[in-house]
Amino acid sequence: MIRLFDSIAGEVRELETREPGHLSMYVCGPTVYDLPHLGHGRYFLIWDVARRWFSFRGMDVTYVSNITDIDDNIIERALRDNKSEQSVAREFEDEHWKAMDLLGIRRPDVAPRATEYLEGMVSFVASLLESGVAYTTSDGVYFDVSSVPDYGVLAGQPLDSLRAGARVEMNDKKRSPLDFALWKNAKPNEPSWPAPFGDGRPGWHTECVVMSLQLLGDNFDLHTGGFDLKFPHHENERAQALASHHVFARHWSHSGWVMAGNEKMSKSLNNFTSLTDLVQKTDPRAYRLLVLRSHYRSPLEVTPDTIVDAERALNRLDTFARRFSLPALAGKNLLRASDVTWSAQGRDLYERFGALLDEDLDTPSAIALLFESVSTANSLADEGKDAEAAGLANAVNALFGSLGLTLVASGGVDIDDATAALVQARDDARATKDWAEADRIRDELVAAGWVVEDAAGTTHVRRT
Ligand SMILES: [Zn+2]
Repeated sequence: MIRLFDSIAGEVRELETREPGHLSMYVCGPTVYDLPHLGHGRYFLIWDVARRWFSFRGMDVTYVSNITDIDDNIIERALRDNKSEQSVAREFEDEHWKAMDLLGIRRPDVAPRATEYLEGMVSFVASLLESGVAYTTSDGVYFDVSSVPDYGVLAGQPLDSLRAGARVEMNDKKRSPLDFALWKNAKPNEPSWPAPFGDGRPGWHTECVVMSLQLLGDNFDLHTGGFDLKFPHHENERAQALASHHVFARHWSHSGWVMAGNEKMSKSLNNFTSLTDLVQKTDPRAYRLLVLRSHYRSPLEVTPDTIVDAERALNRLDTFARRFSLPALAGKNLLRASDVTWSAQGRDLYERFGALLDEDLDTPSAIALLFESVSTANSLADEGKDAEAAGLANAVNALFGSLGLTLVASGGVDIDDATAALVQARDDARATKDWAEADRIRDELVAAGWVVEDAAGTTHVRRT
């Protein structure tokens, strides 16, 4: 049984799905007007890990994550760069996918662009107007939050206290400061779409509720986002769904943000100016490992030191992969536990690992368990218990793969012909137990700047 913290219940509870064995999830996607930042990387890594884990456990997961390709920031950027809104949106959507691909984040099953769902949004706003929960003003259409009796459940505060705390905006067209725009009437030179209540564009909260319901249907299983989306974005999505007599998400799950020092990270971190920059300068797997080592609901501190530390840990894992000649798993593919051949020890590890992840995705404990198992497998191999060691090593590899972390035995280094010939000669020497010759060749390789590692029957070389 998979259990997950639910933001409305305020506790960890069973992830009960609409249909047994199927899981439909909606992950709020990026607004594409700039390069993705480190916070985006952690956010999408977390939901990628969750998706992979649910699949590994045997569920059929439908993963929808939108692209917000029209909003104030995009309009501003287009003006500044002297480009169309569409070309700004496409440019940064490409940057988003590029970074996601490098991080090994699997693409969504559906990635709807808001501008391609306008028709549904227009009729949704029209229906809210008809049922009297929305009203028009001179600048658009607003939702009346008092029409939803439990408004504030995601914020964790009743309407009255939210109202008392609301900033009084300069907008006197709204009836209440918490009411929000469903539709913004077109201003001169802004992109707009036709609507019976006035040409314009949809509000952000309306985009997500319409796309999630249209693609996943009423009562879909899991709606996720970062903590900062809980209120007002998710509260307002939910309010619209309920007011239009839909049954909305069964579970709500929110992830923590990235900190640099004591501050919430937005754009830059020392020498990493963006996520794109980070994944180009470091091993992109390091960020995944760093993310896995903290709980998804906790804030994560990212500093150059923590990245370097994760790279070191990866090095250890790759060395382990070389020693046991482990195949590279995961990548873009989803793995399933049922496809893995488990040894007795491997199965035992999988059971302990699974129990940790099934309890609110406890990746830090699960990863610690895998690192312990790396040591255990190495010790078993040192003691000559090769079969046991190999069985455990294969399980470790599959379980890292279940969370999307690929161990790389090859090291990805180009080895020149002369070096390859030396490696071959050393393997031959070892095969004939000519240890003196094997040692001599090792010294020669080391002198040429290679790190030499012995695996079962083969020599692996890499640069430090
Ligand atoms: Zn959203």
